[in-house]
Amino acid sequence: MELFAVPDLPEIRAGDDLAAMVEARVDLREDDVVCVASTVVSKAEGRVVDLEDFPASPRAREVAARLAEVTGEEKDPRFAQAVIEESTELIMEAPFLLTATRFGHVTVNAGIDRSNVRDGDLLLLPERPSESAARLREGLSADRVVVTDTSGRPFRHGQRGVALGWAGMPASRDWRGEHDRDGRELGVTVQNVVDELAGAANLVAGEGADGTPVVVVRDWEFGDHDGSDEHYREVETDFVRQALRGWEYDG
Ligand code: GDP
Ligand code: MN
Ligand code: MN
Repeated sequence: MELFAVPDLPEIRAGDDLAAMVEARVDLREDDVVCVASTVVSKAEGRVVDLEDFPASPRAREVAARLAEVTGEEKDPRFAQAVIEESTELIMEAPFLLTATRFGHVTVNAGIDRSNVRDGDLLLLPERPSESAARLREGLSADRVVVTDTSGRPFRHGQRGVALGWAGMPASRDWRGEHDRDGRELGVTVQNVVDELAGAANLVAGEGADGTPVVVVRDWEFGDHDGSDEHYREVETDFVRQALRGWEYDG
């Protein structure tokens, strides 16, 4: 398996045909996986917004004031407003905003970025990343697309690449019913391959000024496994998320 970044992509603007820009720069093969940073998907889809467009509600002011109090840093209530508008649930309100997005992703600040955009601009996540992936796939000669983001995770330090959306392949390889080296049947292993591909692609894409938001994964095979498109946990069976609902930060 080999990974390489698509070279020479310019600054992406609203309305840009990202698939055509990739096609013009690399000779894709049908079985390539094209991993695209959500940042540029959002830019192409016009998801760059102005902080000014989010007049703060009383609720946003309350959330921002609490955050400012516990962190000792000034928090813009308009940013809190944007996070609230992009979320279906605020799971934690302090010492940071942990939220669920409309499409099921749980992340800090609804995944809104302020890096790789102009000052005062906010970059919202794509509205439906799997639909974005499917649209990109239409314009590409590769069959598989993953839309990625850099995201933190509980229990571990540091951020890593994760899949927000995907098209042309299942999200997971289901190993259940297959056997280990001692002949024991595997009972629980469902390997989330889109996250693993996103993590690998993110290594190549970088986080700063590299300018390499699109990474091609070549010669990686899904193999002869059952697939599953389950990715985001449903609240009903997400016990960690349920436990957090009753939790209060007390410094
Ligand atoms: P995220 O992980 O999806 O939030 O994206 P990042 O902001 O971490 O950026 C990932 C990669 O894309 C980095 O190499 C950035 O330099 C690059 N990048 C971000 N925006 C653009 C853009 O508009 N054009 C190009 N060519 N690269 C970009
Ligand atoms: Mn991001
Ligand atoms: Mn990133």
